[in-house]
Amino acid sequence: MRIGIDVDGVLACFYAGYEDLIVGIDGRDLFGAHRWPRETPPVWDWPQHYGYSGDVIAEAWKRIKASDTFWLTLPPMPEIGTFQRWMGANTEHQVYFVTDRPGATAKRQTELWLMRYGVACPTVIISRKGKGIVCEALDLELYVDDKGENIVDVDARSPQTDGSGPTTSTLRSDGAKPC
Ligand SMILES: [Mg+2]
Repeated sequence: MRIGIDVDGVLACFYAGYEDLIVGIDGRDLFGAHRWPRETPPVWDWPQHYGYSGDVIAEAWKRIKASDTFWLTLPPMPEIGTFQRWMGANTEHQVYFVTDRPGATAKRQTELWLMRYGVACPTVIISRKGKGIVCEALDLELYVDDKGENIVDVDARSPQTDGSGPTTSTLRSDGAKPC
């Protein structure tokens, strides 16, 4: 089976790295008791939801894009062990890691991160034009993402009415979580 897996919010804990970065830039912890891992963010743009300015968010993304280590040093999601056991036993499925992480070294950082967590030779696809077009081009049969918009995009580009489109799955029920 050809399988696509999103990275942030599925395997890597973007919440932790992003919150740390934003608190460091702003100097205030507006997440407070809501900070990961005490709570999973309630909305996609959760730093703004808790009061951070657009300037702080812009600075955070500027630093992320310029960094050679941000993506590489993210901690794993708590359920990473399940993925590692499955990946370790996988001998038949073709697995692609599909992410829209920005930055000149984002692909290499993602490859090294996946190798650290047990993927021997990861195939990382940077989906700058959306997840749907990538899933369509790879003719995926199963796709996992934590963002509802991506699932809708994949479904729209790979209609299942003819039986050939992928089964899509989001890890979040409301589709409104980050990454
Ligand atoms: Mg994600």
